[in-house]
Amino acid sequence: MLEPADTGSGVVVVVGAGVAGLSAAQHLTRAGVRVLVLEAAGGVGGRMSTEKVDGFRLDRIGQPLSTSYPELRRTPGLDGLVLRLFAPGVLVHSGGRRFRAGEPADPRRARGALRAARALASTPRPPRGVRPPLGGPLDHARLGAGLARLAATEPAHLLARPELPIGSALTARGLPARTLHGFVRPLLSALLCDPELTTSSRCADLALHAYAAGRLAVPEGGADTLPELLAATLPPGSLHTGVRVTAVSTNAVTTAEHGEVPCHAVVLATDARTAAGLLPGLRVPAFHPVTVVHHTAPEAPLTEPALLLDADRRGPVAHTCVISQVDPTRAPAGRALVSSTVLGAPPSDHELRAHLAALYGTSTSDWETLAVHHDPRAVPAMPAPHDARRPVRLLDGLYVCGDHRNTSSVQGALHSGRRAARAALADLGAPWAAASVPESAQEAHAGEAA
Ligand SMILES: Cc1cc2nc3c(=O)[nH]c(=O)nc-3n(C[C@H](O)[C@H](O)[C@H](O)COP(=O)(O)OP(=O)(O)OC[C@H]3O[C@@H](n4cnc5c(N)ncnc54)[C@H](O)[C@@H]3O)c2cc1C
Repeated sequence: MLEPADTGSGVVVVVGAGVAGLSAAQHLTRAGVRVLVLEAAGGVGGRMSTEKVDGFRLDRIGQPLSTSYPELRRTPGLDGLVLRLFAPGVLVHSGGRRFRAGEPADPRRARGALRAARALASTPRPPRGVRPPLGGPLDHARLGAGLARLAATEPAHLLARPELPIGSALTARGLPARTLHGFVRPLLSALLCDPELTTSSRCADLALHAYAAGRLAVPEGGADTLPELLAATLPPGSLHTGVRVTAVSTNAVTTAEHGEVPCHAVVLATDARTAAGLLPGLRVPAFHPVTVVHHTAPEAPLTEPALLLDADRRGPVAHTCVISQVDPTRAPAGRALVSSTVLGAPPSDHELRAHLAALYGTSTSDWETLAVHHDPRAVPAMPAPHDARRPVRLLDGLYVCGDHRNTSSVQGALHSGRRAARAALADLGAPWAAASVPESAQEAHAGEAA
């Protein structure tokens, strides 16, 4: 129940309890501002919600985060976040085989590894037809060294490069075809949820940078652990679920359940489409549709905690993993949980099982489907040119945040919340408080690393 004390002058209403809204609420609260977070759904998290079925934890998002996302360290309330790591690099399936690729080299050893690989490359080649799909040790060493260099590059430099669709930019970069098709394209499709690679090359470079600078990881216990941690440390009474906002202005919101709620300022933190419905004139981006399918298998079809990418695009699955090997808390003891991502509409059950059987090299006929989550507007598209710092201040008293204002990722959503809080604090006449939500030029760029 909304109490009159929760509303009125001095209170900032945050509309939406996804990670962007919760980030804004955290920063405002820590600066001493009273917030009221209104969320339409029955729980927090938005796209980072997790369904619980028979002891399984089934995420709506089908992709890992990177431990290098700066906002995971900078957002108040996330100190207790436990990340479960994938094995370094990824597993790539191509030509009927699986191989490991994309482990950034230790920068101190990269040169030596390259020299050793060059020496190996000059030894007699294996017989025709048995060459690994990504090439030999030299290709791997080059890739590792390239990723190590990328990890050490300032995001500001990446953002200063010419901006093209990443598919065209990659062709122009002169990478060996095997590295391009055997690793970079499938990895970027997975990280960006963009199979055609139309994303801005700057955003794609930031995604690759985040990959190279950290480890792929998932929150222990499910994606919703992250928003729940943010929600748990808000002051009691400041979060209300099951409240749908139908109109917003600078000093009030209207809700379907409680009528008008007066306030001092509003931070609109819904998805892009809802935001544009409430504030006509806001741009609605195109979206990448995503389907995430969860199966349980009697035995883990892969023992390593690896992300498995399909480089050949021989079926609907872009990438898959035995998520219970990465985070055992997501499945009951003795069961394996396999989570697979399709970049598009849900495929037929037959198509899906056949492709997973080929990727894992095992029969999938006794796998049980636990959930199929399809979201036609999963990820806002970021075609070139993409403004990764869209304005968050619309008017004095009216702010907007969400992944659609930054980059389409958890990092982008958290960062947009911080930017909105900072703008609101400056308008509230609390510049000292705005300063407590720091944003140096360097951080601003680093904060965009998607
Ligand atoms: C399938 C999938 C895979 C993804 N993979 C990755 C990944 O691997 N890595 C990564 O970093 N990101 C990934 N993302 C993106 C990431 O999940 C989002 O960028 C992020 O969660 C967006 O957070 P948000 O707070 O901006 O929006 P949302 O999570 O959409 O939150 C908006 C909130 O507003 C609420 N709301 C809407 N309308 C109203 C209203 N009228 N009144 C009150 N409340 C309202 C909604 O219920 C929701 O809780 C993926 C997303 C999906 C769907």
